[in-house]
Amino acid sequence: METLEYRCPNCNAYLVFDAKSGDMKCDYCLSHFSVDEVKENNETRGKVYNEENGHTHSCEESDSEYFSYSCPSCGGEIIGDATTAATECPFCENPTVITQRLKGEFKPDFVIPFKVTKKEAVSALEKLYGGKKLLPNAFTKDNRVKKVTGMYVPYWICDCEASGTVHYDATRVRTYTDGKYMVTRTDIYKVIRGGTVSFDNIPQDGTTKLEGIHTESIEPYDYSEMIPFSNEYLSGYFADIYDVNSEEVLDRVAERAKASVRESFRETVIGYSTVTEGQSNINIKNGDIHYALLPVWMLNTNWNGKTYTFAMNGQTGKVVGDLPVDKKKFWKRVAMFFGIFAAVAALIALAL
Ligand SMILES: [Zn+2]
Ligand SMILES: [Zn+2]
Repeated sequence: METLEYRCPNCNAYLVFDAKSGDMKCDYCLSHFSVDEVKENNETRGKVYNEENGHTHSCEESDSEYFSYSCPSCGGEIIGDATTAATECPFCENPTVITQRLKGEFKPDFVIPFKVTKKEAVSALEKLYGGKKLLPNAFTKDNRVKKVTGMYVPYWICDCEASGTVHYDATRVRTYTDGKYMVTRTDIYKVIRGGTVSFDNIPQDGTTKLEGIHTESIEPYDYSEMIPFSNEYLSGYFADIYDVNSEEVLDRVAERAKASVRESFRETVIGYSTVTEGQSNINIKNGDIHYALLPVWMLNTNWNGKTYTFAMNGQTGKVVGDLPVDKKKFWKRVAMFFGIFAAVAALIALAL
Protein backbone atom coordinates (compact mmCIF):
# COMPACT_ATOMS: atom_id res chain seq x y z
CA MET A 1 0.00 0.00 0.00
CA GLU A 2 1.52 3.29 -1.08
CA THR A 3 1.26 6.00 1.52
CA LEU A 4 2.75 9.41 2.05
CA GLU A 5 3.52 11.56 5.04
CA TYR A 6 4.30 15.19 4.58
CA ARG A 7 7.44 16.26 6.41
CA CYS A 8 8.61 19.69 7.47
CA PRO A 9 11.73 20.67 5.45
CA ASN A 10 13.07 22.48 8.53
CA CYS A 11 12.68 19.93 11.30
CA ASN A 12 11.31 16.78 9.65
CA ALA A 13 8.20 16.70 11.88
CA TYR A 14 4.79 16.16 10.27
CA LEU A 15 3.06 18.79 8.19
CA VAL A 16 -0.72 18.97 8.43
CA PHE A 17 -3.22 21.09 6.54
CA ASP A 18 -4.10 24.07 8.70
CA ALA A 19 -7.77 25.06 8.46
CA LYS A 20 -7.12 28.54 9.83
CA SER A 21 -4.42 29.69 7.41
CA GLY A 22 -5.13 27.35 4.50
CA ASP A 23 -1.41 26.43 4.55
CA MET A 24 0.51 23.33 5.51
CA LYS A 25 1.73 23.79 9.04
CA CYS A 26 4.39 22.13 11.18
CA ASP A 27 3.06 21.81 14.72
CA TYR A 28 6.59 21.32 16.00
CA CYS A 29 8.56 24.32 14.69
CA LEU A 30 5.40 26.24 13.64
CA SER A 31 6.65 26.78 10.06
CA HIS A 32 4.04 27.40 7.38
CA PHE A 33 4.30 26.33 3.75
CA SER A 34 1.76 26.90 1.00
CA VAL A 35 0.04 23.81 -0.38
CA ASP A 36 1.60 24.51 -3.79
CA GLU A 37 5.07 24.75 -2.28
CA VAL A 38 4.70 21.40 -0.52
CA LYS A 39 3.20 19.85 -3.63
CA GLU A 40 6.05 21.07 -5.81
CA ASN A 41 8.58 19.87 -3.29
CA ASN A 42 7.05 16.40 -3.34
CA GLU A 43 6.73 16.29 -7.09
CA THR A 44 10.30 17.33 -7.89
CA ARG A 45 12.04 15.32 -5.22
CA GLY A 46 9.11 12.94 -5.19
CA LYS A 47 9.55 9.26 -4.60
CA VAL A 48 13.34 9.36 -4.34
CA TYR A 49 13.18 11.82 -1.49
CA ASN A 50 10.47 9.85 0.18
CA GLU A 51 12.03 6.46 -0.25
CA GLU A 52 15.41 7.67 0.99
CA ASN A 53 13.73 8.95 4.07
CA GLY A 54 11.53 5.93 4.39
CA HIS A 55 8.31 7.85 3.95
CA THR A 56 6.81 5.79 1.18
CA HIS A 57 5.67 2.38 2.20
CA SER A 58 4.57 -0.56 0.19
CA CYS A 59 3.42 -3.88 1.38
CA GLU A 60 2.12 -6.75 -0.67
CA GLU A 61 -1.11 -8.26 0.46
CA SER A 62 -3.77 -10.49 -1.00
CA ASP A 63 -6.66 -9.04 0.94
CA SER A 64 -7.59 -5.69 -0.60
CA GLU A 65 -10.44 -5.01 1.84
CA TYR A 66 -8.14 -4.08 4.68
CA PHE A 67 -4.58 -2.97 4.93
CA SER A 68 -2.13 -2.53 7.74
CA TYR A 69 1.41 -1.30 8.00
CA SER A 70 3.73 -0.19 10.74
CA CYS A 71 3.93 3.46 11.60
CA PRO A 72 7.31 4.88 10.53
CA SER A 73 7.39 6.99 13.70
CA CYS A 74 6.48 4.59 16.47
CA GLY A 75 6.21 1.18 14.83
CA GLY A 76 2.56 0.80 15.86
CA GLU A 77 0.15 -0.92 13.49
CA ILE A 78 -1.98 1.38 11.35
CA ILE A 79 -5.11 -0.31 9.99
CA GLY A 80 -7.51 0.92 7.35
CA ASP A 81 -10.32 -0.57 5.33
CA ALA A 82 -11.15 -0.63 1.63
CA THR A 83 -12.17 3.02 1.45
CA THR A 84 -9.63 4.67 3.76
CA ALA A 85 -7.74 7.43 1.95
CA ALA A 86 -6.25 9.33 4.87
CA THR A 87 -5.82 8.31 8.46
CA GLU A 88 -3.56 8.67 11.46
CA CYS A 89 -1.52 6.35 13.61
CA PRO A 90 -3.77 5.44 16.58
CA PHE A 91 -0.72 5.49 18.87
CA CYS A 92 1.31 8.58 17.92
CA GLU A 93 -1.23 10.39 15.70
CA ASN A 94 1.18 10.49 12.76
CA PRO A 95 -0.90 11.69 9.77
CA THR A 96 -0.82 9.48 6.67
CA VAL A 97 -2.30 9.90 3.21
CA ILE A 98 -2.91 6.63 1.38
CA THR A 99 -1.96 7.93 -2.05
CA GLN A 100 -2.63 4.60 -3.72
CA ARG A 101 -6.33 5.00 -2.94
CA LEU A 102 -6.46 8.41 -4.61
CA LYS A 103 -5.58 7.37 -8.13
CA GLY A 104 -7.44 6.83 -11.38
CA GLU A 105 -11.22 6.83 -10.99
CA PHE A 106 -10.79 7.45 -7.25
CA LYS A 107 -8.85 10.68 -7.66
CA PRO A 108 -11.27 13.39 -6.58
CA ASP A 109 -11.90 16.25 -9.01
CA PHE A 110 -12.33 18.82 -6.27
CA VAL A 111 -11.97 19.47 -2.58
CA ILE A 112 -13.37 22.03 -0.18
CA PRO A 113 -10.59 22.32 2.42
CA PHE A 114 -11.40 22.56 6.13
CA LYS A 115 -12.03 26.13 7.30
CA VAL A 116 -13.32 25.33 10.79
CA THR A 117 -10.47 24.35 13.13
CA LYS A 118 -10.67 21.50 15.63
CA LYS A 119 -10.63 24.07 18.44
CA GLU A 120 -13.68 25.79 16.94
CA ALA A 121 -15.43 22.44 16.44
CA VAL A 122 -14.80 21.44 20.06
CA SER A 123 -16.10 24.74 21.43
CA ALA A 124 -19.19 24.57 19.20
CA LEU A 125 -19.93 21.10 20.56
CA GLU A 126 -19.34 22.26 24.13
CA LYS A 127 -21.81 25.05 23.51
CA LEU A 128 -24.29 22.50 22.16
CA TYR A 129 -23.80 20.41 25.31
CA GLY A 130 -23.89 23.48 27.52
CA GLY A 131 -27.32 24.41 26.26
CA LYS A 132 -28.66 21.00 27.25
CA LYS A 133 -29.29 21.12 30.96
CA LEU A 134 -30.70 17.61 30.86
CA LEU A 135 -27.51 16.05 29.58
CA PRO A 136 -26.34 13.25 31.89
CA ASN A 137 -23.21 14.05 33.91
CA ALA A 138 -21.71 10.72 32.93
CA PHE A 139 -21.94 11.78 29.30
CA THR A 140 -20.27 15.16 29.62
CA LYS A 141 -17.59 14.61 32.22
CA ASP A 142 -14.99 12.54 30.33
CA ASN A 143 -14.07 15.01 27.60
CA ARG A 144 -15.85 13.18 24.81
CA VAL A 145 -16.03 16.30 22.67
CA LYS A 146 -12.23 16.27 22.33
CA LYS A 147 -12.60 13.11 20.24
CA VAL A 148 -14.25 15.02 17.42
CA THR A 149 -12.71 13.92 14.12
CA GLY A 150 -12.06 15.88 10.94
CA MET A 151 -13.24 13.79 8.03
CA TYR A 152 -13.27 14.40 4.29
CA VAL A 153 -16.48 12.79 3.04
CA PRO A 154 -16.75 11.67 -0.61
CA TYR A 155 -19.51 13.47 -2.46
CA TRP A 156 -20.89 13.47 -5.95
CA ILE A 157 -21.76 16.97 -7.10
CA CYS A 158 -24.21 16.91 -9.97
CA ASP A 159 -25.69 19.36 -12.42
CA CYS A 160 -28.97 18.53 -14.11
CA GLU A 161 -31.90 20.00 -15.91
CA ALA A 162 -35.49 19.09 -15.11
CA SER A 163 -38.29 19.91 -17.48
CA GLY A 164 -41.91 18.93 -17.57
CA THR A 165 -45.43 19.65 -16.42
CA VAL A 166 -47.49 19.12 -13.29
CA HIS A 167 -51.31 19.05 -13.27
CA TYR A 168 -53.39 20.22 -10.33
CA ASP A 169 -57.08 19.96 -9.49
CA ALA A 170 -58.03 23.15 -7.74
CA THR A 171 -61.24 24.62 -6.37
CA ARG A 172 -62.45 28.04 -5.41
CA VAL A 173 -65.35 28.07 -2.96
CA ARG A 174 -67.60 31.09 -2.42
CA THR A 175 -70.58 31.41 -0.09
CA TYR A 176 -73.21 34.13 -0.51
CA THR A 177 -76.88 34.77 0.19
CA ASP A 178 -79.36 34.88 -2.64
CA GLY A 179 -82.70 36.00 -1.32
CA LYS A 180 -83.62 33.54 1.37
CA TYR A 181 -81.01 31.03 0.22
CA MET A 182 -77.45 30.58 1.38
CA VAL A 183 -75.51 29.54 -1.71
CA THR A 184 -72.17 27.75 -1.72
CA ARG A 185 -70.59 27.89 -5.13
CA THR A 186 -67.60 25.70 -5.93
CA ASP A 187 -65.66 26.42 -9.10
CA ILE A 188 -63.39 23.65 -10.27
CA TYR A 189 -60.17 24.46 -12.09
CA LYS A 190 -57.67 22.41 -13.97
CA VAL A 191 -54.29 24.07 -13.37
CA ILE A 192 -51.17 23.17 -15.32
CA ARG A 193 -47.65 24.36 -14.64
CA GLY A 194 -44.71 23.61 -16.86
CA GLY A 195 -41.17 24.70 -17.44
CA THR A 196 -37.52 23.89 -17.19
CA VAL A 197 -35.39 24.26 -14.09
CA SER A 198 -31.60 23.99 -14.08
CA PHE A 199 -29.80 22.71 -11.02
CA ASP A 200 -26.14 23.33 -10.32
CA ASN A 201 -24.18 21.50 -7.65
CA ILE A 202 -26.69 19.09 -6.18
CA PRO A 203 -24.64 17.23 -3.57
CA GLN A 204 -25.07 13.56 -2.80
CA ASP A 205 -22.79 11.64 -0.47
CA GLY A 206 -20.98 8.74 -2.07
CA THR A 207 -20.41 6.61 1.01
CA THR A 208 -22.28 3.89 2.85
CA LYS A 209 -20.29 4.58 6.02
CA LEU A 210 -22.33 7.50 7.24
CA GLU A 211 -25.49 5.68 8.17
CA GLY A 212 -27.20 7.68 10.85
CA ILE A 213 -25.71 10.95 9.71
CA HIS A 214 -28.04 12.96 7.58
CA THR A 215 -25.54 14.66 5.36
CA GLU A 216 -28.33 16.77 3.90
CA SER A 217 -28.77 18.47 7.26
CA ILE A 218 -25.25 19.92 7.30
CA GLU A 219 -25.58 21.25 3.76
CA PRO A 220 -25.28 23.62 2.03
CA TYR A 221 -21.62 23.96 1.19
CA ASP A 222 -20.35 27.03 -0.62
CA TYR A 223 -19.20 25.54 -3.91
CA SER A 224 -17.54 28.76 -5.02
CA GLU A 225 -14.71 27.73 -2.65
CA MET A 226 -14.32 24.31 -4.25
CA ILE A 227 -10.80 23.91 -5.66
CA PRO A 228 -8.98 21.25 -7.70
CA PHE A 229 -8.06 18.28 -5.53
CA SER A 230 -4.59 17.75 -4.19
CA ASN A 231 -3.44 15.11 -1.65
CA GLU A 232 -1.87 17.72 0.66
CA TYR A 233 -5.26 18.88 1.98
CA LEU A 234 -5.83 15.47 3.57
CA SER A 235 -2.76 15.51 5.80
CA GLY A 236 -3.89 15.58 9.42
CA TYR A 237 -7.45 14.49 8.67
CA PHE A 238 -9.33 11.31 7.91
CA ALA A 239 -10.66 10.72 4.42
CA ASP A 240 -12.63 8.08 2.58
CA ILE A 241 -13.01 7.38 -1.10
CA TYR A 242 -16.47 6.65 -2.48
CA ASP A 243 -18.10 3.24 -2.31
CA VAL A 244 -21.34 4.37 -3.97
CA ASN A 245 -20.65 5.03 -7.63
CA SER A 246 -21.98 7.90 -9.73
CA GLU A 247 -24.69 5.83 -11.50
CA GLU A 248 -26.21 4.89 -8.17
CA VAL A 249 -26.43 8.47 -6.97
CA LEU A 250 -27.92 9.81 -10.21
CA ASP A 251 -31.26 8.21 -9.36
CA ARG A 252 -31.27 9.91 -5.97
CA VAL A 253 -30.30 13.22 -7.58
CA ALA A 254 -33.15 12.88 -10.08
CA GLU A 255 -35.61 12.33 -7.22
CA ARG A 256 -34.27 15.36 -5.40
CA ALA A 257 -34.53 17.51 -8.54
CA LYS A 258 -38.07 16.30 -9.28
CA ALA A 259 -39.22 17.03 -5.74
CA SER A 260 -37.71 20.48 -5.95
CA VAL A 261 -39.40 21.22 -9.30
CA ARG A 262 -42.78 20.08 -7.98
CA GLU A 263 -42.30 22.28 -4.93
CA SER A 264 -41.43 25.38 -6.96
CA PHE A 265 -44.32 24.82 -9.39
CA ARG A 266 -46.72 24.29 -6.48
CA GLU A 267 -45.66 27.60 -4.93
CA THR A 268 -47.08 29.39 -7.98
CA VAL A 269 -50.54 27.79 -7.70
CA ILE A 270 -52.11 30.34 -5.37
CA GLY A 271 -55.52 31.88 -4.74
CA TYR A 272 -57.49 28.62 -4.58
CA SER A 273 -59.44 27.06 -1.72
CA THR A 274 -58.01 23.60 -2.33
CA VAL A 275 -55.22 22.30 -4.57
CA THR A 276 -54.54 18.63 -5.24
CA GLU A 277 -51.53 17.56 -7.26
CA GLY A 278 -52.49 15.27 -10.11
CA GLN A 279 -50.32 13.68 -12.73
CA SER A 280 -46.85 14.98 -13.40
CA ASN A 281 -44.35 14.33 -16.07
CA ILE A 282 -40.84 15.56 -15.33
CA ASN A 283 -37.82 14.53 -17.33
CA ILE A 284 -34.29 14.79 -16.04
CA LYS A 285 -31.34 15.51 -18.26
CA ASN A 286 -28.07 14.87 -16.46
CA GLY A 287 -25.29 17.38 -16.80
CA ASP A 288 -21.80 17.34 -15.33
CA ILE A 289 -21.00 15.13 -12.39
CA HIS A 290 -17.96 15.75 -10.22
CA TYR A 291 -16.33 13.81 -7.43
CA ALA A 292 -15.37 15.99 -4.46
CA LEU A 293 -14.20 15.57 -0.88
CA LEU A 294 -16.10 17.81 1.54
CA PRO A 295 -15.07 18.57 5.13
CA VAL A 296 -17.10 17.33 8.12
CA TRP A 297 -16.27 17.38 11.83
CA MET A 298 -17.75 14.27 13.38
CA LEU A 299 -18.24 12.76 16.77
CA ASN A 300 -19.56 9.27 17.31
CA THR A 301 -19.97 8.34 20.90
CA ASN A 302 -21.56 5.55 22.86
CA TRP A 303 -23.58 6.15 25.93
CA ASN A 304 -25.73 3.59 27.68
CA GLY A 305 -25.43 1.19 24.75
CA LYS A 306 -26.67 3.73 22.22
CA THR A 307 -24.64 5.57 19.62
CA TYR A 308 -24.94 9.33 19.37
CA THR A 309 -23.68 11.17 16.36
CA PHE A 310 -22.79 14.79 15.87
CA ALA A 311 -21.76 16.35 12.63
CA MET A 312 -20.59 19.80 11.70
CA ASN A 313 -20.02 21.34 8.31
CA GLY A 314 -16.22 21.82 8.24
CA GLN A 315 -16.55 24.82 5.95
CA THR A 316 -19.52 26.78 7.37
CA GLY A 317 -19.68 25.48 10.96
CA LYS A 318 -23.33 24.40 10.73
CA VAL A 319 -23.95 21.79 13.46
CA VAL A 320 -26.43 18.93 13.74
CA GLY A 321 -26.55 16.37 16.47
CA ASP A 322 -28.67 14.19 18.65
CA LEU A 323 -28.16 14.30 22.37
CA PRO A 324 -29.13 11.74 24.96
CA VAL A 325 -31.57 12.80 27.66
CA ASP A 326 -31.22 11.37 31.13
CA LYS A 327 -34.69 10.44 32.46
CA LYS A 328 -33.49 10.45 36.06
CA LYS A 329 -32.05 13.93 35.68
CA PHE A 330 -35.28 15.12 34.13
CA TRP A 331 -37.32 13.85 37.07
CA LYS A 332 -34.86 15.33 39.53
CA ARG A 333 -35.41 18.72 37.90
CA VAL A 334 -39.17 18.32 38.00
CA ALA A 335 -38.97 17.27 41.65
CA MET A 336 -36.76 20.29 42.37
CA PHE A 337 -39.30 22.66 40.84
CA PHE A 338 -42.04 21.09 42.93
CA GLY A 339 -39.78 21.27 45.98
CA ILE A 340 -39.24 25.01 45.53
CA PHE A 341 -42.91 25.53 44.87
CA ALA A 342 -43.86 23.66 48.04
CA ALA A 343 -41.36 25.72 50.07
CA VAL A 344 -42.79 28.98 48.73
CA ALA A 345 -46.31 27.77 49.50
CA ALA A 346 -45.21 26.92 53.04
CA LEU A 347 -43.72 30.42 53.47
CA ILE A 348 -46.93 32.02 52.28
CA ALA A 349 -48.90 29.84 54.70
CA LEU A 350 -46.61 30.94 57.55
CA ALA A 351 -46.97 34.60 56.65
CA LEU A 352 -50.71 34.46 56.82
ZN1 LIG B 1 9.04 21.94 11.44
ZN1 LIG C 1 2.74 5.94 15.26
